[in-house]
Amino acid sequence: MKKIQMVDLQGQYQDIQEEISHRFNDVLTNASFINGPEVQHFQKSLEAYLGVKHVIPCANGTDALQIAMMGLGLEPGDEVITADFTFAATVEVIALLGLTPVLVDVLPDSFMIDPTAVEKAITPKTKAIVPVHLFGQTAPMDALMALAEKHHLFVIEDNAQAIGATFTQANGEKKMAGTIGHVGATSFFPSKNLGCYGDGGALFTNNDAIAHTLRGIVNHGMYERYHHDVVGVNSRLDSLQAAVLNVKLPKLDSYNHSRRQSAKAYNEALKGHKDLILPKTVNGCEGICESCDCHVFHQYTLKVLHGKRDGLVAHLASLGIPSGVYYPIPLHRQKAYIKPSYKESDFPVTNDLSEQVISLPMHTELDAEQIGHITRSILDFLNNI
Ligand SMILES: *Cc1c(COP(=O)(O)O)cnc(C)c1O
Repeated sequence: MKKIQMVDLQGQYQDIQEEISHRFNDVLTNASFINGPEVQHFQKSLEAYLGVKHVIPCANGTDALQIAMMGLGLEPGDEVITADFTFAATVEVIALLGLTPVLVDVLPDSFMIDPTAVEKAITPKTKAIVPVHLFGQTAPMDALMALAEKHHLFVIEDNAQAIGATFTQANGEKKMAGTIGHVGATSFFPSKNLGCYGDGGALFTNNDAIAHTLRGIVNHGMYERYHHDVVGVNSRLDSLQAAVLNVKLPKLDSYNHSRRQSAKAYNEALKGHKDLILPKTVNGCEGICESCDCHVFHQYTLKVLHGKRDGLVAHLASLGIPSGVYYPIPLHRQKAYIKPSYKESDFPVTNDLSEQVISLPMHTELDAEQIGHITRSILDFLNNI
């Protein structure tokens, strides 16, 4: 059996090695390192793939979130509501811009921001909601967009973990994750579903005026060379990273398909165990659909009940099987983001999740033998303590 890894980037590279070398050579020969043809080609291809009017490439996913907030004109003192259960990047940029993060609890089945908690947290100072499409499926966008409309708020989708996922709106229209709110932000960090070989990110929007503003901000606030109209940043996707993404984007659907196949195999092997709650596919899809991309399994994350999670993590580690705990400490308890107004009773779900979740190895190269070994090891542990 091949050594089990959380993410197997070497295995995936072997299949695309030649194509990557070829494109790298072109970039090196042309010395078009910044904003070269690879970047422009990637921008157009991603716009077509997502069915969105504008893609603005940038340097990483954290920048994408920050630039979205700058581009929407959010100002110090404005409140931005986001999920307590997510990677810190989301809340970090809110705080960095002098905006006020307002963390709210998530839903127990999907781990997504809870629209009821969002509504309760809205004040006259609230300007935006940042739902995070966690682990590969989308937050409840119908409810969130309705709240945003009612209270005149912006919605910035953190789509770092769900590129390629779809969301079917209440009116039946199918949209790609990240293209539903006012701005979507994504990351091409190597381990994401669409990852480059370093850092990369992008913003999406269907709004021409917002797109224009964002394009200036990523490039020092310049709309005309050496005219700085707004305060900007230097945040570019470089051509070598775009070259990798140009090779991988056409394969994204098949990559996501193999992730779904692995998720299905995990589900089959682990279903019905009293100590486990398997990941739930929400947004109108039951189970794991063959034909639909409602969940792209950035992570396969299950809940381990009865206080057995940490023991399971240690047991798997002792067998050389990696696993991850995303996320072990809720953001409302992180030193940088503690606020006196937060009460533990406001975050019952996140608090439980931080003690229960485990993410199993998930990538495009997992095979049946590896999944069999992982799931047998899990069941052995649970059935013998
Ligand atoms: C990875 C990630 C980010 C940050 O992306 P970087 O490219 O690493 O800056 C932001 N939000 C979420 C939910 C992520 O998973």
